[in-house]
Order: sequence, then structure tokens, then C-alpha cells
Amino acid sequence: MMQLEELYQEIKSCKSCNLWQCATQAVLGEGPQDAKIMIIGEAPGREEDKAGKPFVGRAGKLLRNTISSNLIKVYITNVIKHRPPNNRKPKKDEIEACSKFLLEEIKIVKPKVIIALGSTASKFLTGEEKINVAFEKEYKFMGAKVIVDYHPAAVLRNPRLYDKFKKKINEAYSNL
Ligand code: SF4
Repeated sequence: MMQLEELYQEIKSCKSCNLWQCATQAVLGEGPQDAKIMIIGEAPGREEDKAGKPFVGRAGKLLRNTISSNLIKVYITNVIKHRPPNNRKPKKDEIEACSKFLLEEIKIVKPKVIIALGSTASKFLTGEEKINVAFEKEYKFMGAKVIVDYHPAAVLRNPRLYDKFKKKINEAYSNL
């Protein structure tokens, strides 16, 4: 079976859609191969594109602070591996082209619980168009329980969402 390092080499040289052309570099997943929780966001933003690491900007700090008190192994990644210009939402064909890498990450890591952050990850993993609907339901994806949560960028824009955001993270940990 493919290992994460091999997969990362494939991602770095991928030109399956146009996003690589305006990005600085591919942003790979981060975390141990035997992580019990996988957190999946939408796509790299400006800071992630610069650093080559997922969730390192303001939204990433909010996420990392929220999960930091828990020592369970976590793997963090995105549906899309190269930054869309000006942080626009990824297009359908870009998600189709890139999702093979996310599927492979899930296959290798085999998380028990997946936290889908925001509408793009939620739609990909649950098939549900509206995140508010997915938020209330239970889903499974490739053997993992899927918990849908707000994207931390949305929580930054609307701090009143923080309590619900944190509750969902706690729910994910309580399922281990
Ligand atoms: S965004 Fe994904 S599919 Fe597009 S070039 Fe980058 S790695 Fe390949």
C-alpha cells in the first residue's frame, strides 16, 4: 500500500488542474500516519501557501488552539492541495481533479473520526448541499464517522459560532 511520503511526492508534481500555476507550492497534509482523527478543510489560504503547511493562518491558529488540550493524534489536511487565487472557492472540476489525493490520505491513515470543516469538505464527505443540514445529521465515509463543523474562518468572522464549533470538536473526540 502507498505510504504518505509517496503520496506527497505525487501531490508535489501534480498538474491535474490549473491551481498549481498560481500557487507557491502544494500544501500537504500534516500529522502521523496512524492518527485517529482527521480534520479536513477546504483549501490552503495565503499563509498556508507561503508555509507549505495546512492551517497556519489566523483560522488555523484558532483550530490548533481548540484541539491543543487533547493529546490524541490528529492528521490535518484539505480537500484541495494548491491555493485557489484570492482564496476563492474551489471549482467543481478542481475538486474532482484533486479529491483522489484526499481519498488516498483517508485510505492510508484510516481515521476513526473525520471532522469536516466548512461547506466544501462537508459537501464532499456527506453529499449534502447545505452545511446546516449536514451539521445535524450523522454520516460515515470510508469507515470513519464524519462530524461536520464550521470552518474556523467562519468562526473568526462570527465569534458567536465559537461555542458550537468547540462543541463539535469535543463531540469528535468523544467518539474515539
Ligand atoms: S490543486 Fe490538486 S489537482 Fe490541482 S494541481 Fe494541485 S494537487 Fe493537482
